[in-house]
Amino acid sequence: MILVSACLLGHKVRYDGRHALSEEIKALVGSEPVLALCPEVLGGLGVPRPPARFVGAAWGREGLDLIEGRARLLNDQGRDVSAAFVHGAREVARLAREHRVRLALLKDRSPSCGWDPAGINPAGGPGQGVLAAVLKAVGVEVREVRANGRG
Ligand code: SF4
Repeated sequence: MILVSACLLGHKVRYDGRHALSEEIKALVGSEPVLALCPEVLGGLGVPRPPARFVGAAWGREGLDLIEGRARLLNDQGRDVSAAFVHGAREVARLAREHRVRLALLKDRSPSCGWDPAGINPAGGPGQGVLAAVLKAVGVEVREVRANGRG
Protein backbone atom coordinates (compact mmCIF):
# COMPACT_ATOMS: atom_id res chain seq x y z
CA MET A 1 0.00 0.00 0.00
CA ILE A 2 1.28 3.44 -0.94
CA LEU A 3 0.21 6.59 0.88
CA VAL A 4 -0.36 9.58 -1.43
CA SER A 5 -1.15 13.21 -0.58
CA ALA A 6 -4.84 13.36 -1.49
CA CYS A 7 -4.45 16.59 -3.47
CA LEU A 8 -2.02 14.88 -5.88
CA LEU A 9 -4.81 12.50 -6.88
CA GLY A 10 -7.21 15.33 -7.65
CA HIS A 11 -8.96 15.68 -4.30
CA LYS A 12 -9.88 19.31 -3.69
CA VAL A 13 -8.38 19.53 -0.20
CA ARG A 14 -5.76 22.26 -0.57
CA TYR A 15 -5.92 25.38 1.57
CA ASP A 16 -7.38 27.26 -1.40
CA GLY A 17 -10.00 24.61 -2.14
CA ARG A 18 -8.15 23.34 -5.20
CA HIS A 19 -6.35 20.09 -6.01
CA ALA A 20 -2.78 19.55 -7.20
CA LEU A 21 -3.34 16.68 -9.62
CA SER A 22 0.00 15.23 -10.65
CA GLU A 23 0.57 13.74 -14.10
CA GLU A 24 3.45 11.79 -12.65
CA ILE A 25 1.56 10.04 -9.89
CA LYS A 26 0.06 7.17 -11.90
CA ALA A 27 3.48 6.07 -13.12
CA LEU A 28 4.95 6.35 -9.63
CA VAL A 29 2.16 4.30 -8.04
CA GLY A 30 1.94 1.61 -10.72
CA SER A 31 -0.42 -1.19 -9.77
CA GLU A 32 -0.02 -0.76 -5.99
CA PRO A 33 -3.14 0.01 -3.94
CA VAL A 34 -3.27 3.61 -2.75
CA LEU A 35 -4.29 5.30 0.48
CA ALA A 36 -5.12 8.94 -0.31
CA LEU A 37 -5.19 11.21 2.75
CA CYS A 38 -4.82 14.87 3.67
CA PRO A 39 -3.31 15.42 7.13
CA GLU A 40 -4.62 18.97 7.43
CA VAL A 41 -8.19 17.84 6.80
CA LEU A 42 -7.75 14.97 9.27
CA GLY A 43 -6.41 17.50 11.75
CA GLY A 44 -9.74 19.33 11.65
CA LEU A 45 -8.70 22.22 9.44
CA GLY A 46 -11.41 22.90 6.89
CA VAL A 47 -11.35 23.49 3.15
CA PRO A 48 -10.66 26.21 2.28
CA ARG A 49 -8.42 27.32 5.16
CA PRO A 50 -5.90 30.11 5.62
CA PRO A 51 -2.37 29.07 4.60
CA ALA A 52 0.09 28.51 7.44
CA ARG A 53 3.83 29.01 7.86
CA PHE A 54 6.45 27.84 10.29
CA VAL A 55 7.73 30.30 12.88
CA GLY A 56 10.91 29.62 14.80
CA ALA A 57 11.84 26.42 12.96
CA ALA A 58 15.28 25.57 11.61
CA TRP A 59 15.20 24.92 7.86
CA GLY A 60 15.31 21.20 7.08
CA ARG A 61 13.87 20.12 10.40
CA GLU A 62 10.71 22.22 10.56
CA GLY A 63 8.39 19.28 11.26
CA LEU A 64 10.51 17.92 14.07
CA ASP A 65 10.95 21.36 15.60
CA LEU A 66 7.18 21.78 15.63
CA ILE A 67 6.50 18.36 17.16
CA GLU A 68 9.12 18.94 19.86
CA GLY A 69 7.80 22.42 20.72
CA ARG A 70 10.63 24.56 19.38
CA ALA A 71 8.49 26.06 16.59
CA ARG A 72 4.90 26.86 15.75
CA LEU A 73 2.69 27.00 12.70
CA LEU A 74 0.73 30.23 12.40
CA ASN A 75 -1.93 30.77 9.78
CA ASP A 76 -2.38 33.98 7.81
CA GLN A 77 -4.82 35.22 10.43
CA GLY A 78 -2.24 34.80 13.20
CA ARG A 79 -3.90 31.72 14.73
CA ASP A 80 -1.62 29.02 16.12
CA VAL A 81 -2.61 25.86 14.25
CA SER A 82 0.31 23.71 15.44
CA ALA A 83 -1.82 21.25 17.40
CA ALA A 84 -4.13 20.61 14.43
CA PHE A 85 -1.17 19.91 12.13
CA VAL A 86 0.43 17.49 14.60
CA HIS A 87 -2.88 15.75 15.27
CA GLY A 88 -3.55 15.31 11.55
CA ALA A 89 -0.06 13.98 10.86
CA ARG A 90 -0.35 11.45 13.67
CA GLU A 91 -3.75 10.36 12.41
CA VAL A 92 -2.30 9.75 8.95
CA ALA A 93 0.57 7.77 10.51
CA ARG A 94 -1.92 5.66 12.47
CA LEU A 95 -3.89 4.85 9.31
CA ALA A 96 -0.66 4.19 7.40
CA ARG A 97 0.36 1.66 10.04
CA GLU A 98 -3.06 -0.01 9.89
CA HIS A 99 -2.77 -0.32 6.12
CA ARG A 100 0.88 -1.44 6.17
CA VAL A 101 2.05 1.49 4.10
CA ARG A 102 5.68 1.12 2.96
CA LEU A 103 6.05 4.28 0.88
CA ALA A 104 4.58 7.78 1.00
CA LEU A 105 4.45 10.04 -2.06
CA LEU A 106 3.89 13.52 -0.70
CA LYS A 107 3.29 16.87 -2.35
CA ASP A 108 6.07 19.42 -2.32
CA ARG A 109 6.06 22.90 -0.74
CA SER A 110 3.60 21.97 1.98
CA PRO A 111 4.10 22.57 5.72
CA SER A 112 2.57 19.11 6.21
CA CYS A 113 3.65 17.03 3.22
CA GLY A 114 6.85 18.76 2.08
CA TRP A 115 10.03 16.64 2.06
CA ASP A 116 13.10 18.20 0.50
CA PRO A 117 15.95 17.57 2.95
CA ALA A 118 18.63 18.54 0.43
CA GLY A 119 16.89 21.79 -0.51
CA ILE A 120 16.93 21.01 -4.23
CA ASN A 121 13.37 21.98 -5.16
CA PRO A 122 13.75 25.10 -7.32
CA ALA A 123 10.34 26.31 -6.15
CA GLY A 124 11.50 26.33 -2.51
CA GLY A 125 9.35 25.20 0.39
CA PRO A 126 10.11 23.53 3.70
CA GLY A 127 12.72 20.80 3.95
CA GLN A 128 10.60 18.70 6.28
CA GLY A 129 6.85 19.03 6.72
CA VAL A 130 5.08 17.78 9.82
CA LEU A 131 3.70 14.63 8.17
CA ALA A 132 7.05 13.85 6.57
CA ALA A 133 8.72 14.06 9.99
CA VAL A 134 6.13 11.78 11.62
CA LEU A 135 6.30 9.17 8.85
CA LYS A 136 10.09 9.12 8.76
CA ALA A 137 10.12 8.57 12.52
CA VAL A 138 8.05 5.39 12.12
CA GLY A 139 10.11 4.03 9.25
CA VAL A 140 7.97 4.89 6.23
CA GLU A 141 9.95 5.86 3.13
CA VAL A 142 9.00 9.37 2.03
CA ARG A 143 9.39 10.84 -1.46
CA GLU A 144 8.46 14.33 -2.55
CA VAL A 145 6.40 14.82 -5.71
CA ARG A 146 6.66 18.20 -7.38
CA ALA A 147 3.26 19.50 -8.32
CA ASN A 148 3.86 23.25 -8.10
CA GLY A 149 1.82 25.51 -5.93
CA ARG A 150 1.86 25.69 -2.19
CA GLY A 151 0.20 22.78 -0.40
S1 SF4 B 1 -0.16 18.92 0.38
FE1 SF4 B 1 -0.78 17.53 2.02
S2 SF4 B 1 -1.73 18.86 3.53
FE2 SF4 B 1 -1.62 20.03 1.63
S3 SF4 B 1 -3.61 19.66 0.63
FE3 SF4 B 1 -2.18 18.14 -0.15
S4 SF4 B 1 -2.53 16.37 1.18
FE4 SF4 B 1 -3.38 18.11 2.23
